[in-house]
Amino acid sequence: NTRILLASRPVGEPTHDNFSIETAPVPTPGDGEVLLRTIYLSLDPYMRGRMNDAKSYAAPQPLGEVMQGGTVAEVVESNDPSLSPGDFVLSYHGWQAYAVLPAKYVRKLDPAHAPISTAVGVLGMPGFTAYAGLLQIGKPQPGETVVVAAAAGPVGSAVGQIAKIKGARAVGIAGGAEKVAWLTELGFDVALDHRSPTFKADLKAAVPDGIDVYFENVGGHVWDAVLPRLNTYARVPVCGLVASYNATELPAGPDRSPYLMTSILTKSITMRGFIQDEFVKAHYKDFQNDAAGWIASGELRHREDIVAGLENAPEAFFGLLTGKNFGKLLVQVGDD
Ligand code: NDP
Repeated sequence: NTRILLASRPVGEPTHDNFSIETAPVPTPGDGEVLLRTIYLSLDPYMRGRMNDAKSYAAPQPLGEVMQGGTVAEVVESNDPSLSPGDFVLSYHGWQAYAVLPAKYVRKLDPAHAPISTAVGVLGMPGFTAYAGLLQIGKPQPGETVVVAAAAGPVGSAVGQIAKIKGARAVGIAGGAEKVAWLTELGFDVALDHRSPTFKADLKAAVPDGIDVYFENVGGHVWDAVLPRLNTYARVPVCGLVASYNATELPAGPDRSPYLMTSILTKSITMRGFIQDEFVKAHYKDFQNDAAGWIASGELRHREDIVAGLENAPEAFFGLLTGKNFGKLLVQVGDD
């Protein structure tokens, strides 16, 4: 069994030294347990936060243990009546080729319903994050302008498309011409490249009526360009700040918090952070129904970026934090 462990905690950008790869015997399932063979490992930006030894909404990833993460797997052996060999499941057993888990910790997937990889993408946690954050906090109204960054990723691409479904205007921000072209294909009204030297002016031109909802995925220079364009009563679901996940110090320059606070006050802006879990109980069922319908009607499309081989997971993960991925980043660990 190949496993990737957290060997040391990164300072700034993670490196190969922070991981170790080991080979261990394939474990044997006990009563009520299943042996799983990993097919897809989901790589997600939150993993960078878990690598730090800092107090957060979730406990840090322990050193010397298998890196945590969402997985799609096949049941190889089952000691529980609820699952049989050959079944596909959504699991959370991390960066390893095989794992043993209590059957109650995994969810059976129906490959006839949707491709199994979507369980960690458009029909899973990232899709739900977009759905819940946009609809519960952003609350886009018909005709309003919604802006989202990291718009070619699984969260951002769903945010823009759901905004369109709700009758809003969608402006997507992404890095590079290819991603921008894809957003236009998806039906975003405007797509912008945040790496362009004219980005600030491009954003201004793209939102002649200002911004009513800004779905925050990145922070950094994108947020600096967005803040002056927010309208009175704008809503800002704060979902992620990937631009600063590798940061070791505050950005240079003057303290901008007085400008931020004054904007919030004088424009009656609502900013609300969230972790998607808080909405699961009340909204997950609706999400599953709505998303399945929108996928069937072609209104919600997605894209996957699949990297072959578990040993390539660290390198792929570094790229996720700098925009090298194009679509939901998955590692193909075993054949599907
Ligand atoms: P993505 O696949 O979109 O990957 C992150 C993207 O961020 C990169 O591809 C890159 O895209 C962009 N990016 C990285 N650095 C910068 C930068 N300095 N400036 C601008 N853009 C940058 O990831 P996800 O869709 O999985 O996640 C999107 C966000 O949602 C993340 O912040 C994540 O942490 C957050 N999240 C939050 C959850 C919650 O419960 N609150 C749950 C799930 C995700 P590009 O090339 O376009 O710049």
